[in-house]
Amino acid sequence: MTNPPTSTPRTFRQLIAGEWVGADDGRTFDDFSPFSGEVFARIPASGAAETQRAIDAAHRAFPAWAALGARARQALFLKAADILERRADEIVLLMAQETGSAAPFSRFQVQWATGLLRQAAGYPYLPGGEIVSSDTPGVFAMALRKPLGVIAGISPWNGSLALGFRTIVAPLACGNTVVLKPSEEAPVCAGLLMGEIISEAGFPPGVLNVVTHAPGQVGPVADRLFESREVRAYNFTGSSSTGAALAARAGQKLKRIALELGGYNPMIVLADAELDYAVDTAVFAAFFHQGQICMNTRKVLVARPLYEAFLERFVARAAAIRPGDPSDPRNRIGPLINERAVAAVMAGIEQAVGKGARVLAGGRSQGRCVEPTVLVDVPPEAPISCEEVFGPVVIVEPFDSEQEAVDKANATAYGLSASVMSADVWKAVTLGGQLQSGMVNVNGPTMGGEPQIPFGGVKDSGWARFGRWAIDMFTDLNLVTVSQNKRQYPL
Ligand code: NAD
Repeated sequence: MTNPPTSTPRTFRQLIAGEWVGADDGRTFDDFSPFSGEVFARIPASGAAETQRAIDAAHRAFPAWAALGARARQALFLKAADILERRADEIVLLMAQETGSAAPFSRFQVQWATGLLRQAAGYPYLPGGEIVSSDTPGVFAMALRKPLGVIAGISPWNGSLALGFRTIVAPLACGNTVVLKPSEEAPVCAGLLMGEIISEAGFPPGVLNVVTHAPGQVGPVADRLFESREVRAYNFTGSSSTGAALAARAGQKLKRIALELGGYNPMIVLADAELDYAVDTAVFAAFFHQGQICMNTRKVLVARPLYEAFLERFVARAAAIRPGDPSDPRNRIGPLINERAVAAVMAGIEQAVGKGARVLAGGRSQGRCVEPTVLVDVPPEAPISCEEVFGPVVIVEPFDSEQEAVDKANATAYGLSASVMSADVWKAVTLGGQLQSGMVNVNGPTMGGEPQIPFGGVKDSGWARFGRWAIDMFTDLNLVTVSQNKRQYPL
């Protein structure tokens, strides 16, 4: 069963207990296309009642799903990967229309999510626990991994397809059932598509449920998800401010929450780095997906001897990139997600300029497109000097010593990803070890990520780890002991 096709703009339904349904009162909201500003889709505007039914369905589906054998579970994930691959071209277009993602990033996401599904297909065969030594003679002790139950997934809009799947795949592969609440900015690509693919693959009804809500109406949905006793854990990807608020809510109910949050990712170019490659890497890392990836480079720190030459080439390259209609495959970058995002990015640039920064490339917007922008002389008082501005804006700064580079790189509350460029790999590895960052890439961009890596940040960037480490987040470790002899007791 799939979401029924309708006329343009398509009217979508949401997935609850294996049924494609509208909101109870039939209300929908308009999902706008970032580039054209036209209505892309009509989406159910749900609230507490629909969310509760989704939780109930996931709760009912849990025992049978948790008990399903490894071979059957594996086959479903492999089938879902095949469906995603088959639908790649259509989904790339949907991402352009709904989220403004241009083809290079959308194709990457399809490939990434396909890999994630295929790798998760192996999870059911991973060791389900460990044998633990016991000091008591004749006692055999086992630490067994068990699924938690219902997990609520909350996904962002920016890497919609990849992160929508990341929100559900590890929890499902560990034997949990899921209620997915996608971003209101990408309810199709970060939510309903997951529902379509998972149900077409044949996952049993209720194993994955997807509930959508209108902008500004997350409250009743979130209240059900955070007050329900049946929801055992949360998988959240989004901004650090939302993550902090949701961690407090989860903490009040003593529940765990996986947090993948914002970033302010430094790239350090040491004096012995290959200049052209460093420039190529910085251009990609700063401007891919128009700077709307948590791992985009926000600050490039360049050793003083290379600074002027780096800047000249980097600025020329940045100025040559033109954002445009993301559904035209010739455009490598597209618009920002909405007008608020454009206003926030432009305000960040203007504040910095007001405090003495200079714009060497870009600095202007047209419609929802913002030109790739290079700033220098940004003083520490400008918020953009250490806070995430989610757009194609990067700061370039010189440094005179490696310690200064490390101090500047660490002068942010975030700690997601960093990169160090150098001809001396071990020097770069040693310096990278001093960076407060969940991920350090030597001679590569801050951006990247493959499904199997321990993706995740430190500090305000969160604490979740994906790849097979996600199994720790989405299972309980249960101790089971067997006494092979009659035990002697002191009473
Ligand atoms: P956001 O925090 O605004 O929204 C994320 C999700 O949280 C959405 O589904 C939204 O509806 C939901 N949400 C918002 N308020 C809520 C509330 N009160 N209760 C329950 N849910 C609520 O973030 P965004 O704008 O969608 O995404 C961009 C941010 O996400 C950036 O900061 C980016 O760096 C970060 N991000 C991090 C990673 C990572 O893996 N570390 C990946 C992608 C994006």
